[in-house]
Amino acid sequence: MKLSSKSVEEKHFACSLCNAECGLVAEVSNNTVISIKSDRKHPLSRGYCCPKGLALAKVTNDPDRVHTPLKRVGSVFQPISWKQAIREIAAQLKDILAKDSPHSIAYYYGTNAAHHFEHATYVKGFMASLGSQSVYSADSVDSNNKFVAQNLLYGNSAIMPLPDLPRTRFLLLVGTNPGVSNLSLVTCANVMKVMRGILDRGGEIYVIDPRRTETAKILTKSTPDHYIPIWPNTDVFLLLAMINHIFRAGLEDEAFLAQHALQVGELRELVRDFTPEQVSPICKIPATQICSLAEKFAKTDGAAIYGRLGTSLSTFNTLNAWAIEVLHVIAGKLDRPGGVVFGKNLISIPKLGRLVGTGEFGTKHSRVGHFPVVMGDLPVGTLAREILAPVHPIRALFVSGGNPILAAPNSGELGQALSRLELCVVLDFYVNETALAAAHYILPVTTPLERDYLPLFLLNYQVFPHIEYHEAVVQSKHTGPKEEWEILSTLSRLLHRPFFGILPLEIINRCLFLVNRQGVTPNLFLRGFLLLGQLLERKIPGLSSGTLTFQQLKRRGYVPQGRQDYGVIKKVLQTPGKKIKLISPVIREQLLKCTEHLFTEYQINQMAKPSHFLLVEGRSINTLNSWMHNATTPREPSLWMNPLDGEALNISEGDIVIVKTSRGEINVPTHLTSDIIEGVVYYPHGWGHHNPFLSRAAFFHGENVNLLTDSIALDPLSGIPQLTGMQVIIEKQ
Ligand code: SF4
Repeated sequence: MKLSSKSVEEKHFACSLCNAECGLVAEVSNNTVISIKSDRKHPLSRGYCCPKGLALAKVTNDPDRVHTPLKRVGSVFQPISWKQAIREIAAQLKDILAKDSPHSIAYYYGTNAAHHFEHATYVKGFMASLGSQSVYSADSVDSNNKFVAQNLLYGNSAIMPLPDLPRTRFLLLVGTNPGVSNLSLVTCANVMKVMRGILDRGGEIYVIDPRRTETAKILTKSTPDHYIPIWPNTDVFLLLAMINHIFRAGLEDEAFLAQHALQVGELRELVRDFTPEQVSPICKIPATQICSLAEKFAKTDGAAIYGRLGTSLSTFNTLNAWAIEVLHVIAGKLDRPGGVVFGKNLISIPKLGRLVGTGEFGTKHSRVGHFPVVMGDLPVGTLAREILAPVHPIRALFVSGGNPILAAPNSGELGQALSRLELCVVLDFYVNETALAAAHYILPVTTPLERDYLPLFLLNYQVFPHIEYHEAVVQSKHTGPKEEWEILSTLSRLLHRPFFGILPLEIINRCLFLVNRQGVTPNLFLRGFLLLGQLLERKIPGLSSGTLTFQQLKRRGYVPQGRQDYGVIKKVLQTPGKKIKLISPVIREQLLKCTEHLFTEYQINQMAKPSHFLLVEGRSINTLNSWMHNATTPREPSLWMNPLDGEALNISEGDIVIVKTSRGEINVPTHLTSDIIEGVVYYPHGWGHHNPFLSRAAFFHGENVNLLTDSIALDPLSGIPQLTGMQVIIEKQ
């Protein structure tokens, strides 16, 4: 159909798929997105975007999308009305609540919720209204280690220093691939350009990874020795050795430590054994190189370390996150230009979080395994065992914004557990693999183009501080997909539960419902957060300078917030006495445990047999963990193996191999490449789309690497399972 240019409207918006928040432009006609292109006028991304953002139109218009609620009847999903779906689900919830505790109703929400505050807020509110604490999040497979470390050091899980990249002169990237991920838990549009800026102004970047990643290829192209391969799952030894060497060489910032930190002496003592010489054979990095990294980091004004998934998915993942923060503290790089800064914005999310009670750590624990609740959530690694528990098992599970059967460890065990549920409700725009395996009901939700957007939770994680808001690019039909908040509010009302478990809020909600038929909406929350947040900063929105009312923000869309602030540590810390407590009892325990490993099993890091390998994970630029596979054009993934290992096992390029652990096995094609070190193999996570409801994704389905992973050995502080560097056996098919 040819459209006259008059009927096509251009709408500017920010992509909400990842932290980069690239500016995009949609061509819209008759409430339908025709195309999406990058926005050259966006003040930050300036025309940069990735294939996922461009594919948002395909997601919204995808013929495989679910538009009406579905109910499993026998072996098929049958379309039903919203009214029937909500009433039936509410009735089953009532039954479960009548016979068991509210905790037998659980919720799992995925990464998507972190980018849409209303999604996560209403999940928490819905569960609070039921009185259930059984909330699980995707953060417990990749981010909780950082939240725990920040809490222990800075007094609140949401206080997260971020690299001050525009002023950085030395950057160490450990177990991270921003060339594909565009960073995570840090917002920086076109981050590779920003990082190349470090090199352009004469700075240095080192990339540490068992795999020569896309990032390493770009950023160390002219300095190949700045790519340093490391043996998987040993980052913690490298980081502790750097701390050790900084003390040993007398390079610590004594003035900063004296003013802001406690227990420096104990820290020095606890890392005493982690000398570069001792850890060198473990990490397979020469001791001289470890010393050089530590010295360059400590001596350069404007130095930062950024570690992500490789460090978050390993055995000592909380210790990794803690060690990175501690390196910044002891070398005086915290709160300094070019080092790491406490992201500034119109409002402070950690302050707001403290007010509403999030960001705590160690006050509650999981029933299975006694893992600490982090940011109010339980570790998903325990979900299967909670469902299979003989006493008070989880009977009902809601899932939104995620796909745990592919994302959570030990998918085989989780699949068995999910089949035991009395009620499983999946809120998604596709029949994803979790829905296919276990859903009794699938409730269709709107796509990112069909909802307003303000990334509230990311406001303090921005390299270039700003606040941005846009309304939905297109509207979903009244009878079609809905937002999670609307579905959960309706359910809570039908169950006669107080809104968010708070009686005064329930009264307001009921009164508003009579007026607008929606009750308390996210917009109202947003207005409240903006007002409260600015009042906490002692500013009155619309009256004090530099403030914003919601209406002003709506009108302006993008509002810059100036440069980062430095020297604000005393204002930001939420610890007693506003000091950084370097050693807490749980960290002491972990350090002692790590010291034991230093002298035992980690010394033996050669694989016992040629067929034994360590498997590392990652993902491609076309995919976002387990989704976007039905909208972009990913290729069938393959298992990367060093050619020397291929030769030893008589494996050629493209050969199908069996990769197995005691949990399960997958059959995958091989790609021989010297971009991975010997003894290590790589396969991306988020695959395994053997799913007839995703026609495109099913074509290049790949395999689910979490069939191999373990849900028992979780980090005792973060609850994150070891998902990288796990031992596998490889056989030629
Ligand atoms: S990098 Fe890609 S997914 Fe991330 S915000 Fe930009 S367009 Fe969206």
